[in-house]
Amino acid sequence: NSSRLVGKNVLITGASGGIGAATAILFAKAGSNLILLARRTDALKAVVDAVTSAHQESQVQGGGKFVAVQLDVSDKAQVAALWDKVPKELRNIDVLVNNAGFVLGMERVGDIADADIESMFATNVLGLISITQLLMRDFKARRSGHVINIGSIAGREPYAGGSIYCATKHAVNAFNGSLMRELVDTPIRVTEIQPGMVETEFSVVRFRGDKAAASKVYDGLQPLTAEDIAEEIVWAAARPPHVNIAELFVLPVNQA
Ligand code: NDP
Repeated sequence: NSSRLVGKNVLITGASGGIGAATAILFAKAGSNLILLARRTDALKAVVDAVTSAHQESQVQGGGKFVAVQLDVSDKAQVAALWDKVPKELRNIDVLVNNAGFVLGMERVGDIADADIESMFATNVLGLISITQLLMRDFKARRSGHVINIGSIAGREPYAGGSIYCATKHAVNAFNGSLMRELVDTPIRVTEIQPGMVETEFSVVRFRGDKAAASKVYDGLQPLTAEDIAEEIVWAAARPPHVNIAELFVLPVNQA
């Protein structure tokens, strides 16, 4: 029941495209307020325009407050200064969607550049943890909140050429499970969504901008869309308060 999302403050990392942007649009349609984080300001501006239109078209009463913040989740100083850039009335976050993440390259162990190893861990793991730590103090003080972590099939099933990315997503899975168990005596919810292949810029980033190589990944199957995963995220957030969707593993029908 998406009426539970009206007036809720939802913070999404990696909101400038793909799954994050699609999720922002669905929360806007459901009447939520949004704090949208990413590094690219132009892309974030376009998402703010899109959520503004989506909210107007939905004619839902409530919500409609949107703020975009340029922020690199891997930069601890930027994370620590987040609240300086968010209006006071939006600082009580109800739902955190930890979505920022990427994979760079398919190199085998021994051939992976240190910078690639570090940047994947810095964003996918340390960035996710930094933002969660920042919000958790407030969630615990208010005894409310919902953390939704975007994991991956790569956090369940390692593949050759994906050692670092798979390690980061296994780390997300472990963090999610520990956090959920730490909060078991509180009303705070913790969810991990684990998508299979989703057609976004993700594959283009993996192949370092080579669009032809990126699209070959989807040969022989119909990938999920960003909206498919956004629907699962919003659905998990809209469950009644006593229901915690611990994990949700979502695949394209032809992905084994
Ligand atoms: P996209 O590349 O389309 O989007 C990634 C988003 O993350 C962008 O908005 C990007 O914005 C943001 N981002 C990346 N690094 C940082 C950073 N350091 N700080 C802040 N924002 C950052 O990919 P998807 O939408 O597909 O990916 C979203 C999540 O889904 C990721 O965690 C990914 O691992 C996961 N996933 C994706 C799958 C797929 O097949 N697409 C499958 C399984 C999981 P900007 O560049 O502006 O910072």
